[in-house]
Parts: sequence; C-alpha cells; structure tokens
Amino acid sequence: MGKVSIALRGWRFDEDEVFDEDGEMRPVHEMSDETRERLVRLTVVAGNPCDACWLVHGDENIERCKVARVVYGEPLGEVVLCNQHERDFLYWFREAGGSEYRGTDEFQDAFHEWFADGGRAPEGYGGVEHVDTDPDSVPQPDPDVEMPTLEEELEKMDDEELDALGADFSDLDI
Ligand SMILES: [Zn+2]
Repeated sequence: MGKVSIALRGWRFDEDEVFDEDGEMRPVHEMSDETRERLVRLTVVAGNPCDACWLVHGDENIERCKVARVVYGEPLGEVVLCNQHERDFLYWFREAGGSEYRGTDEFQDAFHEWFADGGRAPEGYGGVEHVDTDPDSVPQPDPDVEMPTLEEELEKMDDEELDALGADFSDLDI
C-alpha cells in the first residue's frame, strides 16, 4: 500500500484509504478520524506562510514570508515550513532535542521558541533528506513529483461530503 502526501509534503496518507482505484478521493466518512482530521487541517494550513519566515518578518511584513511547502507535527500543533527553513527545522528535530516533543502539544511552541531564540541549522547542514515524524517510517517520494492539491480533490467532492468534513471552506478559492 502506497503513501501519498496531499497539498504539502510531510503528512502521509495511505493511498488506498484516501483514493479509490480510479484515483478519485473517497467519501470522507469512509476515512478514519485521524485521516479526516489531517485533511481538514490541511485545508487550513495549505497556502499559509512558513512559520519560520513569519517569526522573522511578522504580520507587518507578511509579503516577505514564503509559502509553506511542508508540514510536520500533529494537527493543530503542526509546524509548516518553506523549503529553505525546513533545514533549520530538521536540525532542531534531529540534533537540538526537537524529537523529544514529537507527538506532544508543545511541538510547535518548542520549535518556535528555539527558532525565535536564534536557533538555526549550521552552515552546510544537509537536511535536504526528508524526515518522517510519523511513527511508521516509509520510503520517501521524489519531491519533484507533482502532488494532487487538496483544492483539486475537494472540487471533486459533492456538498454533502464537504459538510461531512465539518470544515469551513468558505475562504478556500474553489
Ligand atoms: Zn521560511
């Protein structure tokens, strides 16, 4: 069974749970609570600015923040990052004690605190290799492969299915 990312790299979904044989998104009521929760959260955070950029530039210079490409952590406590700042996050997670916060409510705050305190990956730190913060480790996809955007998938759902998601999609441009 394959794993796929949707909209952002990072969170992984069982392909068979989310999509049917034709590649269409399944009705959300057939999905597990965890999957539904992540999908709903993705509709909120996809397109958001990178957390680290935001800590640097703030709301007053929001236009200088890059759009997040990757999401780590658990829904509501997630960290979203642009490709540049993913290095800093990976350094924090692997080398600076960040992994202790895996799965906890403090995950996001702990990273923000470290970064706001000047925490950065050292010059030359690799970190391009993707790390999976989910407990099950799976082979990583080629980052250049096109992922279906959540908007595209949501467009295929009917209103009843969207209602079942219990999310407010009014600010999504679909
Ligand atoms: Zn950034």
